Amino acid sequence: MKNINQDFAADQPFRSLSPAVMRASTVVFDSLADFARRKERQPDGFSYGITGTPTARELERRIAELEEGAHCVVTPSGQSALMTTVMGFVRGGDHLLVSAACYGALRTFAQNWLARFNVDVEVYPPAIGADIERYLKPNTKMICMESPGTVTMEMPDIPAIAAVAKRHGVLTMMDNTWASPLAFRPLNHGVDFSVEAATKLFGGHSDLLLGSISMNDAGYYATLRETQSILGQQTSPDDCFLVLRGLETLRVRFAAQSRTALEIAQVLEQQPLVEKVLFPALPSDMGHGLWKRDFTGNGCLFSLILRPAPESAFTAFFDALQHFAIGASWGGVHSLAAYYPAPLQADRLFPLTDQPIIRLSIGLEAPGVLLQDLQAALSAFANVANGSDA
Ligand SMILES: *Cc1c(COP(=O)(O)O)cnc(C)c1O
Repeated sequence: MKNINQDFAADQPFRSLSPAVMRASTVVFDSLADFARRKERQPDGFSYGITGTPTARELERRIAELEEGAHCVVTPSGQSALMTTVMGFVRGGDHLLVSAACYGALRTFAQNWLARFNVDVEVYPPAIGADIERYLKPNTKMICMESPGTVTMEMPDIPAIAAVAKRHGVLTMMDNTWASPLAFRPLNHGVDFSVEAATKLFGGHSDLLLGSISMNDAGYYATLRETQSILGQQTSPDDCFLVLRGLETLRVRFAAQSRTALEIAQVLEQQPLVEKVLFPALPSDMGHGLWKRDFTGNGCLFSLILRPAPESAFTAFFDALQHFAIGASWGGVHSLAAYYPAPLQADRLFPLTDQPIIRLSIGLEAPGVLLQDLQAALSAFANVANGSDA
């Protein structure tokens, strides 16, 4: 035991204001009896690196607090959090309901993997409420929800869906990444699992991937802790630390980015080249009523449908951007623009549009700088669009 790393800081006058990064594959035990009983330490304790470290537990504790939930499990990415939640409970022979507007990789996982494991995967229209009842079967196990929908921003009535699910003993999982628990707390609306891509707003600096699953039920928590470890979904303590640091500024970043996003969306809505701004916080949005009823913030992510134009006009739009970076993901301090081509929209089940969609993530920059960039991009778009009309 001599060579084992004892807690070398314990007897020193040192306490940091920031959480410790604690690394481990191996966890050591005081006795053989302790080692033999190590599995009894789950779901909260530490027996091997795969079930987590004190750094991961501290992050889980803080996220559960934000979600107003009793338990949380962190996973290596938002996608892994979605997948782990489903894998914890859904088996061959079960029926799984997935929103047509859910995060694309979850739908692909359901349709290309789970369906081949004999799960009956069914896609439902995103802007649904109590009508979800019509999609339920005796073997329906879980409903995967997202509000608003990825890219297209349809608003489902989450409390209504959760109430129907509860009545039928069906589990509900909601991807809450868009709002974050600062603007919506799914567990308080009857949802069983609240999933966040911590990659986005929690981390906030576009430099890591992480996901979280929060819940109240202790039995579900034990199941998901086991699922997380059996599927090998371990998180790096360094990434957990970075998300812990991100959480320290979440409220101010969220407030500032939300304010700028709303301001920019309101200006864009007035532009003749903009056919539609997809953003539930705008009174013109189809989902505005539900957003206003249930949500307390608008976040930093919205989408645009421009006037129909050839692909080259969209290329000109993106080529003209000087400040917005072109890239996937969102929620960081730097503004981003992403493109979702027309066929992707038209070919989706229950499509919202057959036009391309531009999605903007608003960062911490001055609104004027961003607006100027978007005005220039719209002018470039117009030059090509009008040229081709002539
Ligand atoms: C990005 C995103 C995810 C996936 O998160 P990753 O950490 O990138 O895997 C899931 N859901 C939503 C809504 C997202 O925007």
